[in-house]
Amino acid sequence: MFAGVVSMDLTTLFSANILVLSVFAISFLAMSFRVEPHGHWRSWSAANILLAAALLCFWQEQNLPAFAAYLVPNTLLLLGFGFHWHAARQLADLPSKISNVLAPASAYLLVAVVAYYVSKFGLAYTAANVIFTMLCIATISAYTSRKFRGLISAIGLILAFFFLAAEGALRTVHGLALGGPTGPGMMNDMIQDIHLMSALIFVSLTGAFSLAVSFEQVAYKHREAARRDPLTGAFNRREFQHRLEGLLQGTPNDTFGLVHFDLDHFKKVNDLFGHLAGDEALVEVCNTVKSHLRQDDCFARLGGEEFAVLLPGISRENAFRVADRLRERISELRFEFAPKEFNITASAGIYHGDGNQLLTTDLLQAVDISLYKSKNGGRNRITFAEPIAQRT
Ligand code: GH3
Ligand code: MG
Ligand code: MG
Repeated sequence: MFAGVVSMDLTTLFSANILVLSVFAISFLAMSFRVEPHGHWRSWSAANILLAAALLCFWQEQNLPAFAAYLVPNTLLLLGFGFHWHAARQLADLPSKISNVLAPASAYLLVAVVAYYVSKFGLAYTAANVIFTMLCIATISAYTSRKFRGLISAIGLILAFFFLAAEGALRTVHGLALGGPTGPGMMNDMIQDIHLMSALIFVSLTGAFSLAVSFEQVAYKHREAARRDPLTGAFNRREFQHRLEGLLQGTPNDTFGLVHFDLDHFKKVNDLFGHLAGDEALVEVCNTVKSHLRQDDCFARLGGEEFAVLLPGISRENAFRVADRLRERISELRFEFAPKEFNITASAGIYHGDGNQLLTTDLLQAVDISLYKSKNGGRNRITFAEPIAQRT
């Protein structure tokens, strides 16, 4: 399968790798000036420059002083992959310092210098490959973090690094089996062409997927911002409307619950403790509600201190139970800004049914009326909506 590839000469393979790495290094650097945050773009750019330099050194090994030819290429390679790891952690919002880049290469240098003086060159070769494999695994682990859930291009990056980690592991085994190089030069690798070809596949894949993952992440952030309320993180009215329409268009006999609630005398919170305290109370109420809902439920802030919860696939009794539990939990909340005995209550209107032949406006009007019945009935309570006349 590699016959055609292997026949490619080393000059072509080395230059193709260096060219692709340089093109991506320049585009990543250009991106770092245009797309925020810029840290990971610069790290990717640095990784590509270092990897291009490493390949240049491997290629021109014979023209370098022996000691430099022994130490420099692998050190540059590990620094490059250190930057890949650093970039992945920056993009994942995980803590990462420049020591993440320097530590693996420094560890290799230490082992390699000792190996040189005791003439155990296989040790340096094994250390380079083991550290390289570990760096790839650490990078994979960063790309599997929560930040990348649902991003298809992150899977591309994971596969690319997995492919490299496997290759690093194979090289380690290969080196150990053959007893490693006998001199300070690179091990006389029979399959160097294949390694260079896979490097080319790797640099093209990571380059393209790095660009893709970064833009996919930005697109995801914008999509989330467009459907969430910035203060509380709850969904906004637009997303709520969209989900409700989805439920109304769903299977006719699927029942759902719709709870519409409004905080009682909330104006007093602002008047007594200030607007910031009011904001804090809204955030706490929302966190409490979110923590009591299922994954498929939709909790939205319709505006001000007015909220709605959609409970798909739920019985009438359970819809009421959920609503009542939320009402109770809200009334139990205690706030740092207020005396212990101070509490906030909520009044709600609730609908349960399959929404068959109804419009969103019919439902919202019905729960709004029942919410006001709760208010007029003394607040801190829940009222079921009257049956709604179906549209023909
Ligand atoms: P009711 O029991 O009848 O609902 O009384 P209420 O005081 O809650 O009702 P009203 O609609 O008169 O007042 C709502 C208050 O909610 C007024 C407004 O200052 C406050 N509010 C709405 N949105 C926000 C917000 O984002 N932050 C803060 N701090 N207050 C808000
Ligand atoms: Mg209110
Ligand atoms: Mg209100």
